[in-house]
Formats: sequence, C-alpha cells, structure tokens
Amino acid sequence: MTKQFVWGTEKRYNDYSTYIKRTFGERVQKISVNAGFTCPNRDGSKGVGGCAFCNNSTFNPAYCDTAFTIEVQIEKGISFFQPKYQAQNYLAYFQAYSNTYGDTKDLINKYEQALANPKVIGLILGTRPDCISDDLLAYLKNLQKKYYVAIELGAESTNEETLKVINRGHSHEETIDACHRINELDIPIGLHMILGLPGESRSQILHHASEVSKLPISFLKLHQLQIVKGSLFANQYIKDANYFSLYTADEFVELVIDFIELLDPRIVVERFISQAPADLLIAPAWGIKNFEFVAKVEKRLKVRDTWQGKAL
Ligand code: SF4
Repeated sequence: MTKQFVWGTEKRYNDYSTYIKRTFGERVQKISVNAGFTCPNRDGSKGVGGCAFCNNSTFNPAYCDTAFTIEVQIEKGISFFQPKYQAQNYLAYFQAYSNTYGDTKDLINKYEQALANPKVIGLILGTRPDCISDDLLAYLKNLQKKYYVAIELGAESTNEETLKVINRGHSHEETIDACHRINELDIPIGLHMILGLPGESRSQILHHASEVSKLPISFLKLHQLQIVKGSLFANQYIKDANYFSLYTADEFVELVIDFIELLDPRIVVERFISQAPADLLIAPAWGIKNFEFVAKVEKRLKVRDTWQGKAL
C-alpha cells in the first residue's frame, strides 16, 4: 500500500500543484507580467549594481515585454497557455524586479490593469522584503475579499554575511520582519532561496532549512546558483571560477533532498531549480528541464526512502 504523507498526498514532498488544486479546486495557470518596475538595488536608493547574481532578463518570458501594456501581456499569456493546458483561470504574476516598489497609487493602477481581465482571479507579487509599505498591505488585504493575493519575497539566504557578499542590500532580520507583517494579514507568502552562494558551507546551506521553517511562509522556491551574463558574478567568474562551488545536477538533487528533509512539512515546495535562458547562462550548464529535475528528485527520494521533514 502506498503511504500518504501528512500533506495528504503520496508525493514525498508537499508540492505546489496540489496546493493550487486544493486552493482553487482546479488547475490555475500563472502568467508573468513585466510592469516596468525597477528595484532599490538598481535605482540608487540602496545600490546601483544590483544583487551580484542578478540579470533580470533571466526571468522574463518572451510574451512578457514592457513594449506591451499589462492588458496585452495578459492576453498574450492566455493565448499562449490556453491551448496547452485548457486552464480557465489565471493568476497575474508580477515577476520582474520589485513589484511592490513605487508610488502606491501607481502600483495599484498596474495591478488593476491585470485584474481587469475576467479570467484573472488573483495576483502574485514578487518583491524584496524591504519594499512593502503598510498602505500597500492594507490595499492587498482588502483586495483579498475578491481575489487571491500572494507575495513572493526574495530572501536568497538567511546568513547576514552572505547577504553582504551578494550585495543584497537588505538583512535577514528584514526578511523575518516582512514575513510577520504580511502574515498578520493572512496573505500567503512565498520565499525564494538560492542554495550554493559563495562562502556557504553545506551545513550553512542546510541550516537555512531550519531558519526558513521558523517563518510563517506558505511556499518555498529553491534555486541553484547560476552565473548569468550581465551579472556581477559573471565578471567574478571570468576572473576566478574557483571562487564559486557550483553543483552538478546530480549533486544538487542530493542537496535539495537533504534540505527538504529538514523543512517543515507545512511549507509547500514550489520549485527546486531555476532555468536561465541558454543564451544568458554561463554556468552550470546542466542542459535539463525543470520537469526532468523534478523527476530525478522524486526518483532519489524513493531510492533514499525519505521525505520532506523526515530529519526533523
Ligand atoms: S535580484 Fe531583484 S532586488 Fe536584486 S538586483 Fe535583481 S531585481 Fe533588484
């Protein structure tokens, strides 16, 4: 007989597509939107060079181009996904840069352009922990009466030293504070973490799982460190590649499994890796797609007879 885990499925981790079906009763597709925002780590208010790993072009799908209005980006996204998945409903995913950074009225105006499409049933706002005003949170709380609303915070590391090394421009303390402020309003929080940042030992990486488990977050996205063209790390990599300890895909599978063994079972795992476009990626060039990586993780979880939270 197959075992059911505490999250109610036979999967060995608390997976995101089950969370979506549980929340909406059906498949709901995210559509990425580029609203033309910037971020305080690029416009000079915190810094100008950006986070050392970042080239924002790596997370912008082709249909999502600021040459198009938000309404058109949504329509293009729906036309792209509808034939593939027959999804009926969509979430507008404000992904590029910091999507809660700016004048509150201007932010609201952009969100409402996305919500004007009747097939859009909610918003997911990607942002930094130091860019969330109380005014905006009050608006989002009210918006929740009619729409699904979630906030994705880039934490990247829980180690203060690492956050300085990557020129992140905010502290882990600020991540903790943002999580509590958002959670007080019952708005679901997703967290982004990069595993394998320079200077972090394996035990420090695994310690993030314990720190993340203490936060009132609903879901987690893990990423391998990727060196992408146009980033500060790209220059550093050309000068001294040995400064980085990049993982092979198989090594990263084992790391991810060790990590989720230490992760609270209530946290939904949304992603294990990210995939920078091939023309921007310098290293590591794994040449595998997200679904292939997920299959490897699932196979190894079975072979190792382990699951999320087993080591707690
Ligand atoms: S990762 Fe986000 S916060 Fe950092 S530079 Fe890029 S857009 Fe700005």
